[in-house]
Amino acid sequence: MTSFDTLTAAQIAAGVADGTFSATEVARAALDAIQARESSVQAFLQVTPELALEHARKVDAARAAGEKLGCLAGVPVAVKDNMNLAGTRTTCASLMLENYESPYTATCVQRLVDAGAVPVGKTNMDEFAFGSSTESSAFHRTNNPWDTERVPGGSSGGSAAAVAAGEVPITLGSDTGGSIRQPASLCGVVGLKPTYGAVSRYGVVAFGSSLDQVGPFARTVEDAALAMNALVAGGRDPLDSTSQDCPVDFVEHLNDPVEGMRVGYIPGLMEAEGLTPEVREAMARAKAAFEAQGAELVEIELPHMDAAIAAYYVIGPAEAFSNLARFDGVRYGYQEKDCSTLAEQSALSRAHGFGSEAKRRQMLGAYLLSSGVYDQYYFAAQQVRTLITRDYTRAFERCDVILMPASPRTAFRFGEISDPTQMYLSDVFTVSLNIVGNGGVSVPLGLGSESGLPVSAQLVGPAFSDRRLLTFARALEREAGTVNVVAPDFAGKGGELA
Ligand code: GLN
Repeated sequence: MTSFDTLTAAQIAAGVADGTFSATEVARAALDAIQARESSVQAFLQVTPELALEHARKVDAARAAGEKLGCLAGVPVAVKDNMNLAGTRTTCASLMLENYESPYTATCVQRLVDAGAVPVGKTNMDEFAFGSSTESSAFHRTNNPWDTERVPGGSSGGSAAAVAAGEVPITLGSDTGGSIRQPASLCGVVGLKPTYGAVSRYGVVAFGSSLDQVGPFARTVEDAALAMNALVAGGRDPLDSTSQDCPVDFVEHLNDPVEGMRVGYIPGLMEAEGLTPEVREAMARAKAAFEAQGAELVEIELPHMDAAIAAYYVIGPAEAFSNLARFDGVRYGYQEKDCSTLAEQSALSRAHGFGSEAKRRQMLGAYLLSSGVYDQYYFAAQQVRTLITRDYTRAFERCDVILMPASPRTAFRFGEISDPTQMYLSDVFTVSLNIVGNGGVSVPLGLGSESGLPVSAQLVGPAFSDRRLLTFARALEREAGTVNVVAPDFAGKGGELA
């Protein structure tokens, strides 16, 4: 007997392909593990046993018929609850969409399914993806598997926690300002935000349309690469106008040496507000790991990084305000009954449907886009965007990848950060990448010396170099020995596989 959580997605797909176990057996083991662990972690908003078994049977039937199986054959996956999956609700963790049934399946989810993945449910998140702790979910909190009194990060906290707790080997999240990389960091798993446009967002509920990107969580870099292969298969999605063709094999060069490559780092960044000593230590370890493998470290600078948070908290809310205007109690979502005017219906539906952070963002966006204010803030933020983009372009003339923290600190306690502007500072190292569009990955580096909680490093690449980014991530993972680690209190609980 092996516990299902000792297997990586790559091993599951190989085992299903060669008949070591069936997709149905794996699905049952995953459902079992979820049942045994979910009461402590609460990563899911919805678990879908019937849907999972139906998909697993299809994979088994395809194998029996001698068909070629996809790269994720029989791999249980879960997706953030802002992604449509026919047969499930898509709630965005909001009362506004509490009863919203997915009318179709998002391209990103469909592509996992086309590669043979078996969807087992939808994961918890901050309401409409506003947040860094998953505490703004309208339904329940999600606990960090490393310490259940702490947050998993956010906004894709459920997706990160499900992987860290060994409930599924791969999940999807969305990242508008750090929502894949920060929770990955706090939960000690790999989280990749691919380059803007690499993965289709068709069927994913929009937050900030010029910033949003979908990407995978996994316990190994190889599994994240496999998920990417599935996500980009089929090329550009005509249903998302920002989607681009990126016909690369993310697995093929994963183990290429990084010898002679240039890793950039920014000495000034280490002085950032709120950066804890153990995260600084993790950076030093990451540098040493690259040097040990023959990479060259080069000092670079990103002079306008300081303005990134401010620019993000103008552009993000402005775009969120326009995107969330559709939830007005008419066509989508919660509808207040017995109102005498349309305006009243809209006002009351929105007042009931949205939680406080979602309201704050929309009010902020409405204000920022109002006449007279627009030039001062929105226009200035777009200028900052140009400056930061230029900074990165210059930096990548001198290096192949940039090393920086993903999160300034390890997982915090529930309720510890109650001031919204303090919460926004969680994004200090992540938002600039959404502003410029480049890819970034959070790689676990073991546990911090002080807190005993997961620490990580973030690697940032030039646009559409995500394949090489994963090669660097693999080099770090190899050196740090953080391959396929399940949080100890959860490892092996339920989910035996014969
Ligand atoms: N924490 C950031 C915010 O609250 C990022 C959210 C995200 O990436 N979805 O806006």
